[in-house]
Amino acid sequence: MDLREIIKSIPKAELHCHIDGSLRPKTILEICLKNKIDIPTSNLEELKKHFEIIGECDSLKEYLEKFDYPIMVMQKKEDIYRVTLELLEDASKDGIRYIELRFAPYFHTAGGLKVEEVVESVLSAMKAAESKYNIYSGLILCAMRHESVSKSIEVVNLAKNYMNKGVVAVDLAGNESDFPPELHKEAFDLAHKYGLNITIHAGETGISENILKSINILHASRIGHGVFAYKDQNTLDYLIKTKIPLEMCPKSNVDTKAVTEYKKHPIKDYLKMGINVTLNTDDRTVSNINLVDEYMNLINILDFSLEETFQLAKNGIEASFAPKEIKENLLKELEKFRVQSTKYSEGQFSVNTENLKLNGLTPKPSGAVALRLFNR
Ligand SMILES: [Zn+2]
Repeated sequence: MDLREIIKSIPKAELHCHIDGSLRPKTILEICLKNKIDIPTSNLEELKKHFEIIGECDSLKEYLEKFDYPIMVMQKKEDIYRVTLELLEDASKDGIRYIELRFAPYFHTAGGLKVEEVVESVLSAMKAAESKYNIYSGLILCAMRHESVSKSIEVVNLAKNYMNKGVVAVDLAGNESDFPPELHKEAFDLAHKYGLNITIHAGETGISENILKSINILHASRIGHGVFAYKDQNTLDYLIKTKIPLEMCPKSNVDTKAVTEYKKHPIKDYLKMGINVTLNTDDRTVSNINLVDEYMNLINILDFSLEETFQLAKNGIEASFAPKEIKENLLKELEKFRVQSTKYSEGQFSVNTENLKLNGLTPKPSGAVALRLFNR
């Protein structure tokens, strides 16, 4: 079994994945054709340029333009259902056992759907994926920074109506530079009062103070990205002390130019200094990435050991908003897999074959790479 298959087989949770950034390209084309959405070309490779970063991305503005087509194709119940179910199938192929999907529901009412129909289309796909793909999921509803606080309050009230029915949290996303967290205080005070979990995009675009503001003013118990925490020692100290998790998405940060190159991403430094970091994709299609690739990048570019990758997987499960039972079962499975993975006989990588069969993999013992990683 090669290293990629080991990473795939680790029972994982993903906490930060935008539905509209993670549609299959072929599906975008098919829905555009079906719904007669005006597209510049019906050649898939050509069309991909409009929703995938190919090569260098020049700006956050260019990055955000990649969502135009995905949002256009997510305006009918059956299409929202389809793209969500496909995303969950893709995630299950990464060995993800629990995922938190997020989106801004009001982006999907332009075609005449009621916002409740939008949310319920996603929730019913999530339910179907449990038995179809053996993946559990929770939904996070995003309020948008550039919108008014009253719109954010609507999102919070919507989330409250679906608490315990699949919605697990609320988020604040969008343009962080021009719209600081405090503008949405009233909405997140309400979310806190309702007992909703809160995660906030913060410290993604250079403004480290947004991290502590999101925690102290908006009651965030997790931070989306937090990549710029290093700019402020108080923020680092606070994160180390409180263990508030960061939902880190390295490839996305490279694409948005939050970091100049992958090897300069601070995720490993944060892990080493005791910050509770987790690994996520953010936008699978826009960044052309999946969670296994993200782990492989950490190993190949940032020199993560396998033990450190297990730590990230554990952090992800523990930091999730999953029900207690799912969390406990996943942690048990992860620990079992970790212990089995560290057993060697005659220099061969040894794993429990039954566990591998469960994950649909054929074991091919070959431990050299894994051994090298453990010995670092
Ligand atoms: Zn995000």
